[in-house]
Amino acid sequence: MYNAASINKILKGELLQETGFSDIEHLLLDSRKLIFPETSLFIALVSSRRNAHQYIEELYRKGVSNFVVSEQVPLEKYPKANFIFVKDTMHALHALVASHRQQFQIPVVGITGSNGKTIVKEWLYQLLEKDYNIVRSPKSYNSQIGVPLSVWQMQPEHNLAIFEAGISQPGEMLNLEKIIRPTIGIFTNIGEAHSEGFLNIRQKINEKLVLFTKSDILIYSKDYLALNECVLSFHNQLGEEGPELFAWSRKTDADLRIISVDKNDNHTRIDALYKQEPLHIRIPFTDEGSIENAIHCWALMLYLGKEQEVIQQRMDLLSNIAMRLELKQGINNSSVINDSYNLDLGSLTIALDFLQQQQQHQVRTVILSDILQSGKSDATLYEEVADLLQKKNINKLIAIGKNISREKKSFQQVEGLKSQFFNTTDEYIQQFNADDFHYETILVKGARVFEFERIGKLLEQKAHQTILEINLTAISQNVKLYQSMLKPNTKLMAMVKAFSYGSGSFEIANLLQFHGVDYLAVAYADEGVELRRAGITMPIMVMNPEPASFDAILHWHLEPEIYSMGVLMQFLEEVVAAGKTEFPIHIKLDTGMHRLGFVKKDLPELAQVLTSGASLKVQSIFSHLAASEDPAKDALTQQQGRLFYDMSHELQKALGYAVIRHIDNSAGITRHPDLQLDMVRLGIGMYGIDSSKDMQSQLKNVSTLKTTIAQLKQLEPGDTVGYGATWAATVPSVTATVRIGYADGYPRRLSNGKGKMLIRGKLAPVVGVVAMDMLMLDVTHIPDVAEGDEVIVFGADLPVEQLAAWAETIPYEILTGISQRVKRVYYQE
Ligand SMILES: *Cc1c(COP(=O)(O)O)cnc(C)c1O
Repeated sequence: MYNAASINKILKGELLQETGFSDIEHLLLDSRKLIFPETSLFIALVSSRRNAHQYIEELYRKGVSNFVVSEQVPLEKYPKANFIFVKDTMHALHALVASHRQQFQIPVVGITGSNGKTIVKEWLYQLLEKDYNIVRSPKSYNSQIGVPLSVWQMQPEHNLAIFEAGISQPGEMLNLEKIIRPTIGIFTNIGEAHSEGFLNIRQKINEKLVLFTKSDILIYSKDYLALNECVLSFHNQLGEEGPELFAWSRKTDADLRIISVDKNDNHTRIDALYKQEPLHIRIPFTDEGSIENAIHCWALMLYLGKEQEVIQQRMDLLSNIAMRLELKQGINNSSVINDSYNLDLGSLTIALDFLQQQQQHQVRTVILSDILQSGKSDATLYEEVADLLQKKNINKLIAIGKNISREKKSFQQVEGLKSQFFNTTDEYIQQFNADDFHYETILVKGARVFEFERIGKLLEQKAHQTILEINLTAISQNVKLYQSMLKPNTKLMAMVKAFSYGSGSFEIANLLQFHGVDYLAVAYADEGVELRRAGITMPIMVMNPEPASFDAILHWHLEPEIYSMGVLMQFLEEVVAAGKTEFPIHIKLDTGMHRLGFVKKDLPELAQVLTSGASLKVQSIFSHLAASEDPAKDALTQQQGRLFYDMSHELQKALGYAVIRHIDNSAGITRHPDLQLDMVRLGIGMYGIDSSKDMQSQLKNVSTLKTTIAQLKQLEPGDTVGYGATWAATVPSVTATVRIGYADGYPRRLSNGKGKMLIRGKLAPVVGVVAMDMLMLDVTHIPDVAEGDEVIVFGADLPVEQLAAWAETIPYEILTGISQRVKRVYYQE
């Protein structure tokens, strides 16, 4: 057990203030994730955007009494806390966990590579959980922060550890190596993606290999040629010191030589030679990624000396890994987070964080199964779970399983928590009543054997099979990327108008509120009202405040954009009648867009009205750039900037108080940093789209529109397709009818070959005309195409920009045009 004194010794820091040493169990890096104040150590990390020292006061108030800092703190304000002073808090985090790791002499598997890290890790867990008490990275915790948090979980009861490591910059792996210190290495593969920060693929491979410098064995596939060359030279350089190699290959001689891979129906049989013996496994997957991941796992099990029969049995039972937490629309106006594939304390905590982030409903419900293989006694375990549910303000618990039911008492003691207990999933389903759920957010979280996906099905609204998937993690990363480009004091307003560019409403706003964005902006008051009703409390600007909505604006404390004397006078009258003072408004200036806004000659009169009473308070002055993305129009942008400077200065002077000034949109942030001023308005960039190639390559894809094949048709030459018979087969052809049409927002002008969709990684052109609810694709050239196949309309591999280009429009129009009947599914990676 640690305390501030022993940790200070490890960190060779300076104990600034000591007030008695209580036990420390948890590392806290994100103040919003506080659960156990008494036993947490807060390490105040500092990045270019965020300085966590600012949260010390709040955390102290909430009961945290151990801190690691690298800046002066007013100690007298925190008489009951220990402060460890170090030079660099990130470095301290790494040093502390590296020292923790040194206490354990168990096999530690370290996994890196471009793809498949999380799946290999989770599959190894599935394959080995019967033999070992395993500690592993939660979800995809593989970064400079995720890895320390993962390794910190190592406890004496564990006898196998599996951690993944990912890097985005040269130099980072050295830190992770010291923390993980893997004895067994797996290098999954190498792809071209995420190459920023690296000169070339070899540099990237060599950097990743640093993880295995002190390992006993390294498992990898020889079939990646660059990888194989780098591994061999790494091996030669280190000689005796470095790891032994365990290579597998589908093409050439290797420790595990794969001879054949046969796919049928839903299974793949893989035959191989190992130590001259023929072996085989069968896995319930047929895609190439799964086959590669399974072979890595197979190699590791052979290395560990597992019996071939055991390997075969368990491989056949591998199951899908939920890589993400999904938020879906549920029955009776509820929201459902379905995470029914695995369950342990780490992933439960993450899922509860996501649940807590949801503000849209007041009631939060958790459906939870037994937690298997925790390494703790049931009494301790469920007491901890009950504590967690209490800390996360859960209102309802439906507990399923014999063990959790036996520990009822722990949950019944939690104040404000209604609980019900069932022995089996069947028992629960038999008495399931949809009327038990209304306007609540429900987390479904169970161990695999409990088959909670059956409960998920009962709770989720039946969806038409065309869905728009929104990657919330990608939005967060995109926001952070733009934030990293802002001047230190520039605020951020996030544009969530038009259902967040088609991607959702409160789901996105919840996320942005959670990330501490400063402002939201919507187009119309009713969009703002919806956000308020869903629990969004941050300031919201309304860009088109119509007189009919002034009531709602006042009632819900929305902040109108005032763009003309007419609007100003009407709104003022309303505010005065309501008896409000200093009601926040935003003044829009027209500097060249010629859409809405005051022009220069209006300013004296505007200032005169604004200063004549105290009913209104100007929160910000802003203008909009007409062509910030276009280098050919930079002169216009600069001219708009100068005019804005001049006009906002004049107005501000007349007002006599400071206001926020803003003009940059997404493209402006990167192309015109001199115009970032006090705040910027981020729109399309947050949703993963930027007109510059360089930015585009750094952004993460946010939206994926997908559907399925409803029916396949065999056509003879001369057969025509669709309304108006505008397309005819010239050779024997196969067409696929898919469930998306212009009523879903798929442009009709993409008829007859203009538009294409992705099926099994291949492009299939639209044939015939796009109908209201359906269209047809030519799939003659796609092997194994089948009814029910997934069809990607746009996404990471078929960018929405491409679709927009085919339709001769801009991505904004495509995204915002996706109709509301297309269900949105939100997920967090
Ligand atoms: C939509 C909008 C933005 C955001 O523009 P993007 O190009 O999507 O970043 C900014 N300001 C105003 C006034 C807008 O209407």
